[in-house]
Amino acid sequence: MRILVVEDDDRVARGLVTALRHAGYDVHRVGTVADAVSAPPVDVVLLDMGLPDGSGLEVLRRLRDSGTAVIAVTARGEERDRVLGLRAGADDYVVKPFGTAELLARIEAVLRRTRKARAEVSDAEAVEVGPLKLDSATRAVSVQGRELALTRKEFDLLALLAARPGQVVSRDLIMDQVWQASYEAPTRTLDTHVAALRGKLGGLVRIETVRGVGYRLVG
Ligand code: CA
Repeated sequence: MRILVVEDDDRVARGLVTALRHAGYDVHRVGTVADAVSAPPVDVVLLDMGLPDGSGLEVLRRLRDSGTAVIAVTARGEERDRVLGLRAGADDYVVKPFGTAELLARIEAVLRRTRKARAEVSDAEAVEVGPLKLDSATRAVSVQGRELALTRKEFDLLALLAARPGQVVSRDLIMDQVWQASYEAPTRTLDTHVAALRGKLGGLVRIETVRGVGYRLVG
């Protein structure tokens, strides 16, 4: 397990790094926002909220949606930092000064929670419709075990249809979800992508046109 310690106080950082290495973690330490956001990916970030070149909140914003667990490290009495940190996506917080035992317990707890959340997400992301298998986590698609090479938009379109097998998905919803509402793509863009997908699916899984409404995936 890799841990990034973001802490500008050398004395505090040294103590943390020693304790975490002793507990068996692979530890990397930085002291600024700039170094924190350019550090290689880790499993857990211990994030001091007060850094010389900015706030820990900037680091939290960059890490959002990355799947990295973050524990905010705040000074006693800085309740505002804790609240803002939790709102910005921190998984937990500790208040300085804290003991090693408390910190290790919190690290283990956030790791357990993020592992569980990841397992649940990947279950939901794997879909099967007849001979079609589609995995949103890896963006892998196969028909009867044969891998298909899809473009990004083809994948997004197929994933949307496969999430509701046998049901009609309207052109409006597809344009909104796959091409985003703000982007005025000509409607023939959708027809072109459907035609390309039909070719790649080879008739083993069909995309039916529901005239004037949209499309339906039939396995
Ligand atoms: Ca600090």
